[in-house]
Amino acid sequence: MVKLSVVIPCFNEEASLPSTLERVIKVARECVTNYEIILLDDGSTDLTWELIKGACLNNPSVRGIRLSRNFGHQIALSAGLQSALGARVFIIDADLQDPPELLPDMMRALDEGADVAYGRRVSRDGEGFFKLVTAFGFYRFINWLSDIEIPRDTGDFRLVNRKVLDAVNAMPERHRFLRGMFAWVGFCQVPIDYARLERIAGESKYPLKAMLRFAITAITSFSVRPLRLAMLMAACFAVASLLGILYVVIGHFLGGTAQGWTSLMVVVLIIASLQFLLLGIIGEYIGRMFTEQKGRPLFICSENCGTEVTAG
Ligand code: UDP
Ligand code: MG
Repeated sequence: MVKLSVVIPCFNEEASLPSTLERVIKVARECVTNYEIILLDDGSTDLTWELIKGACLNNPSVRGIRLSRNFGHQIALSAGLQSALGARVFIIDADLQDPPELLPDMMRALDEGADVAYGRRVSRDGEGFFKLVTAFGFYRFINWLSDIEIPRDTGDFRLVNRKVLDAVNAMPERHRFLRGMFAWVGFCQVPIDYARLERIAGESKYPLKAMLRFAITAITSFSVRPLRLAMLMAACFAVASLLGILYVVIGHFLGGTAQGWTSLMVVVLIIASLQFLLLGIIGEYIGRMFTEQKGRPLFICSENCGTEVTAG
């Protein structure tokens, strides 16, 4: 069996791919005798695929998969994870922002019993103020919203074992926020700290639009809390409406208000509160439909012991 699979999604990475491959192959050789490198071409329009084909000819441990168009980082990565055969899978970007040389440390963590060793960025070089602030805010916001703890300042850079990989591959959802899914499956996960470096070549394939889409996928995949907002507003509005109704009715009896104002206000306040309540109820049902429809497994078993008693 292949001991280690390295999955590298590549989108227009002709400039960085050769040195990435060189470093990844070197470190993989140091760690295991038997490895495979899966290069995923996510619909590149430059020479990435030609480079991948060349690498496959040069080294039988390298495999290439080319998607029919650009499907996005998370889908490309999912495709790679589905086809990985290794007992352990190492996920790394093609731009060398995350050092492949961390692999031995991650392997050690798994040898010592962890199921996942994920890279945790303690610093980020060469990334603009905007990216730093949005990334900082994003991980905190998503944790505040979601029901499970998603490790902060963590990307997809990690080493996972077969158990964890199979669990993630068995999650059929289509909007994939992989780092959240890896957190969701549980097991023993340990962080490995490192400094995130500048891209060695090319530019980020995550422009603002892609980043926003990514953030929305992350939030909606792991939280139905925004839908509950209507319920919260209904409660606040009900209290405010009661006070409002009290105010206009007292005003009516004290006199001096325009004809018809009291009844109009009472009706408006009651209807508005009812609307919020109904939206909240609908939101609750939609939230449940959404979780049902994701079709995630109910639970994931970590280990079994003892003998199962069979009937008869
Ligand atoms: N990538 C991909 N498809 C895309 C965008 C990015 O396969 O549509 C790959 C890209 O080649 C790189 C990794 O995903 O290996 C991370 O992308 P990038 O470095 O641009 O993201 P950033 O580090 O800026 O968040
Ligand atoms: Mg990058």
